[in-house]
Amino acid sequence: MWQAQVRIDLDAIRHNVATLRGLLRSGTALMSVVKADAYGHGLLPVATAAVRAGATWLGTATLEEALALREHGITTRILSWLHSPGRPLHEAVAAGVDLSAASPAALAEIARAARQTRRPAAVHLKIDTGMSRNGATRADWPALLTAAAKAQADGDVEIAAVWSHFACADEPGHPSILRQQLAFDDALDEAARLGVEPPLRHLANSAATLTLPESHFDLVRAGLATYGLSPIPGAAPDLRPAMSVHAKVALVKAVQAGEGVSYGHTYKVLKDTTLALVPVGYADGVPRSASSRGLVEIGGKVRRVVGRVCMDQIVVDCDGDDVRPGDEAVLFGAGSRGEPTADDWAAAADTISYEIVARMGSNRTPKVYVGEDA
Ligand SMILES: *Cc1c(COP(=O)(O)O)cnc(C)c1O
Repeated sequence: MWQAQVRIDLDAIRHNVATLRGLLRSGTALMSVVKADAYGHGLLPVATAAVRAGATWLGTATLEEALALREHGITTRILSWLHSPGRPLHEAVAAGVDLSAASPAALAEIARAARQTRRPAAVHLKIDTGMSRNGATRADWPALLTAAAKAQADGDVEIAAVWSHFACADEPGHPSILRQQLAFDDALDEAARLGVEPPLRHLANSAATLTLPESHFDLVRAGLATYGLSPIPGAAPDLRPAMSVHAKVALVKAVQAGEGVSYGHTYKVLKDTTLALVPVGYADGVPRSASSRGLVEIGGKVRRVVGRVCMDQIVVDCDGDDVRPGDEAVLFGAGSRGEPTADDWAAAADTISYEIVARMGSNRTPKVYVGEDA
């Protein structure tokens, strides 16, 4: 009998991928971003479901994530975009994984890996259009383009794309969005001037995929929306959250008004009540910052975590109701039965749903897959 589980609905993943594809013009491809163990949902099951539903690209941050996909026989085109110097990039080239470069030095490493592998590397040239995170600055962009054009002429790389990433696409109307779009256009113009005509241009994340069709270009990179969550409240009513978190109540007890609950006694029971002990804690990804704020559904009612979230367990106020050991507690799910959602937990923990699912799913709690592909 299980005690706690993270349930992943692969039908929801397929539904979301199909829904996202429905937002794209016919010439635009969909990349399902499966970094960080598919945002905690499980790399291989999600990648397989996404490809079945029509994703023609997969996106990962690290090399290991990309290679794991290849090792399991996934032949879909993959872009892996985050590499410190000295990584074994030849393994990516040999596995046919596209790589991103944001500086001449990074490009030189990719070219070296290609020569070692005796196979040209597919490269996506990244321009920083205003996020000040990854990507070449405007000042470094011409040097990167020139180096890439030369490496292509030498047969070491194939320039597959020019790309960038939005900082504030989840705040529709934010002035940086237009600035970044214009900077992206400029970067493409500059590339054309230097003889670089990439077959693909890509800019949109989930938020831009949902709200900015003019940013779709040839490919969109959808992460969060693939999992049925929206970076903008209410922007994606057709998406279905794929992750739900369940645990069986371990113990129920009556306590009297005035008793302190959990470490530090940060919460005091206000009136006589019953408390349920639910066996998941911060080691399972339950945010400690949601102490006395997180919501849990037990017996058809939404209840509140009381006191500190512990490493392995939380205490939930059951208001004197007849809750019993073995009853199922739902921390969050799709919300369709009134249960709390990942967005509720994000609000309770002062974070974003991305972090809630990535942490809950990449932890001690076993994952169980449901749906046709399971
Ligand atoms: C994570 C990531 C994405 C996906 O972002 P979402 O907001 O989850 O859609 C796209 N592109 C890059 C470069 C990323 O790091």
